[in-house]
Amino acid sequence: MSTVVYQARWILPVASPPIENGRLVVQDGCIVTAEKAGAPDSSAIDLGDSVVLPGFVNAHTHLMLTGCHGIRYRGSFTGWIRNLMAVHPRFAFGDTVRQSVREGLGQSMAAGVTTVGDIGDGVEVIEAWAAGRMNIAGFLEVVGIGSKRAGGHPKAVQTAAELLHRGFLELWVPPRSNNPLTHPGLFTAGLSPHAPYSTDACVYREAIGCVSGLSGICRRLCTHLAETREEEQFLRDGTGPFRELLEQFGLWDGSYRPPGCSPVEFMEQIGFLSHRPLLVHCNYVSDSDLDLIAASEASVAYCPRSHRFFNHEPHRWREMLARGINVCVGTDSLASNDTLSVLDELRFLRCLDPSIPGGQLIRMGTLAGARALGLDDQIGSLEVGKRADFTVIPLDRAMTHDPVEAVLADSSCPSSAFVGGCQSRDFAPRASE
Ligand SMILES: [Zn+2]
Repeated sequence: MSTVVYQARWILPVASPPIENGRLVVQDGCIVTAEKAGAPDSSAIDLGDSVVLPGFVNAHTHLMLTGCHGIRYRGSFTGWIRNLMAVHPRFAFGDTVRQSVREGLGQSMAAGVTTVGDIGDGVEVIEAWAAGRMNIAGFLEVVGIGSKRAGGHPKAVQTAAELLHRGFLELWVPPRSNNPLTHPGLFTAGLSPHAPYSTDACVYREAIGCVSGLSGICRRLCTHLAETREEEQFLRDGTGPFRELLEQFGLWDGSYRPPGCSPVEFMEQIGFLSHRPLLVHCNYVSDSDLDLIAASEASVAYCPRSHRFFNHEPHRWREMLARGINVCVGTDSLASNDTLSVLDELRFLRCLDPSIPGGQLIRMGTLAGARALGLDDQIGSLEVGKRADFTVIPLDRAMTHDPVEAVLADSSCPSSAFVGGCQSRDFAPRASE
């Protein structure tokens, strides 16, 4: 049984008040004590004037697009998708996609992120996830609309589910069961029907069926939702820029029947909201949409800097929080953002609204994300019995009295991150890769 004691000027458990001059005792990758330090302990690892807080949770990203940085946006969302699709194929296959995901995982860990809710596609992505040594909530993306579903792969949902199952059995479980310290991360698998403008009710229902089954490892659902006004238009009457996009890509065959309601109402109608889904964006939602989300156990992933990149109307995240909706933070991909840092997102929000309590922001970047991904019983806060997933941020000397504001105001970077008690520098890829 291995025990390690860490001491730091501040420990920020998130689920309880900050502890000044605190100590964190870690045994076999789990937290056994988080408390005020007593007498000097020469065996403890002293992290000095720093804040120790839970590893950040990036609830929504696409690491396979890490190499697609700098897709330009000129005021048309579908125009941006066309630009992305023109670049994306170069990143979508083989070693390129493996390298892109690994690069994204490395950038995440360097930013103090220990858990990602990542949308991916194909076995290469699963292989890269398995090699990442951090917590992965992996969602395989499925699309398909009308009779030309999923680009000619009518069983896309089952295929994705089988891929996840095989990947989980072959790539993830063996290293962890042989030696937990060589592979300390958690893995949870899910499906992500892409969005209502690319994916019809039939595909959504199939995905629901996969996560509802007692067998298999698919447990979570995610979807992009209510991202643009054009999406509202498409669901209302099947017209507009998304119709034109589908026609251009040869995916429109006239069999699609628009539900004639809002994207959130559509999710309610097909039963998607009943499965604790992660709803990404929700940029354009009415009061009644918010009522539906609040009445469900759905979480909302807000991607603040990506939201700004597309110059969307103000997001209603504060109203969502006031209604008790679990709002977490995602970076989305580098195709619409500058970094994969959740801390950068929180600092951006702090500038956007200085009146929001800092503790609330930190919670959005940690525990709320863990809850959205179904991992809050294991990570997201520094509590006894949870996994030792934490990030260390050096303190600016002028801010040592208030660790929360120091984290949000300070521009210092995380100095290290731990997953299941293992420090990030131990996370180099295995020699066999
Ligand atoms: Zn996304």
